[in-house]
Amino acid sequence: MIRRTKIIATLGPATDSPEMIGRLLDAGMNIARLNMSHSAHDWVRKTVKYLREAAAARNIPVGILMDTQGPSIRTGNLPVPLDLQPGQAFTFTVRGEKSEELYSVDVNYDNFINDIHVGDTVLLDNGDIRMKVISKEGNHIRCEVLTPGKLGSRRHINLPGVKVSLPPLTAKDLQDIALGVEMGVDYIALSFVREASDLRELRAQLSEAKRPPLVIAKIEDQQAVKNISSIIAEADAVMVARGDLGIECPYEELPIIQRKVVKACLRLGKPVIVATHMLESMIHSPMPTRAEITDVANAVYEQSDAIMLSGETTVGKYPIQCVEVFDRIARRIERSGGANYHQKAELVTARQKLIKSAVVMGDQLLAEAIIVFTRRGTMARYASWLRPQHSCVLAICEDSGVAEQLTLNWGVRAMVYSFDYERSEITVERTLASLLEKGILHKGNTVVIVSPITSGEQMFDAVQMRVL
Ligand code: PEP
Repeated sequence: MIRRTKIIATLGPATDSPEMIGRLLDAGMNIARLNMSHSAHDWVRKTVKYLREAAAARNIPVGILMDTQGPSIRTGNLPVPLDLQPGQAFTFTVRGEKSEELYSVDVNYDNFINDIHVGDTVLLDNGDIRMKVISKEGNHIRCEVLTPGKLGSRRHINLPGVKVSLPPLTAKDLQDIALGVEMGVDYIALSFVREASDLRELRAQLSEAKRPPLVIAKIEDQQAVKNISSIIAEADAVMVARGDLGIECPYEELPIIQRKVVKACLRLGKPVIVATHMLESMIHSPMPTRAEITDVANAVYEQSDAIMLSGETTVGKYPIQCVEVFDRIARRIERSGGANYHQKAELVTARQKLIKSAVVMGDQLLAEAIIVFTRRGTMARYASWLRPQHSCVLAICEDSGVAEQLTLNWGVRAMVYSFDYERSEITVERTLASLLEKGILHKGNTVVIVSPITSGEQMFDAVQMRVL
């Protein structure tokens, strides 16, 4: 049985060698994430090459996800880290101005001073340091420190509930996206998506690409939550980016938002990723905590398409074990059933309804596989969306790029075969013979086949049942 839930691992110093990439793939990584907040272009070029080589050697597709930095507000450089204590005064400056005061730092975004108001909360360094805005004067924003912490250089600033007027794509993002297109990455994730038009701006940058990467909307602030339906409708996939989301929203809202986003994605037929802090303790320890096991199990139970590792595989001591833990929990929880939110799927087109009949057929017949011959991956995506209870989805693609863009989809195993459109029956027979020979299917297995058939000049989609 294949694992249905896909595994994404972020690459970094702990995992960027050909050897470690091979071990991650052997342990079950389906998609490698390159986080552009921390990655140089030379590193991306080298790592994409390692990934494609390691996947080719194993004859499996690997997805590559480039994650943009997005409109992130950061503090400037400090000569030495500052120890901050509650009650202390602290000053932020903008427009290149520096303050004479020791407890001060400049900010990389000039409109910071216009976007925030007296009484607003400023969070620094993953929300660890909390301040309140006391006054604004010229280029200076005076705050009071509320929680203690050590402030270093270039720290991320979150402004919960504040409508930030930064553009959705920064100059850095545009350069990174051009590199992603050049390297043929499969997915580009847009950080801090606030509305659907942000995704349209990203798509405009991809229009020239031979095979445009699929666009993932990262949901990480209150504005994205507010606009969730239109964002999901515009995106190819969605990520519940719980790191920033847990800072930007009250933390008790996080499980509710996660469930709401997963449910909406399964209603609208878009893949969804649950990300961040899933096995955080394994950065230092070979065993997950009980709470982490339960959190991973919850995401698998919700039938999210993928679960994601960040620091665990970039700087952690046990990156391979983290993938193994994901694999083990996912397989067990999948056997125990799921939330079945796909039952509220809003099917619109005839092809979606045809796939629904194939999935019902597979479940009724306890078919080993639903074999989908798919040119662009669309029909395989529909089959995954409808979460077959019993069968895996074998997506037979002509193009390795299509197989790589199916690595995110729940329950899909994509393989590359040549198609003969004139004689589609020969394509089916040849593929079935090969699947039997490779031991992927066995004599006596029941399968449901979705394939195009030609009749005269016309091509139709057909569903058939076979016992091998
Ligand atoms: C997150 O905030 O959860 C996330 C995935 O984004 P990043 O790692 O880019 O902060």
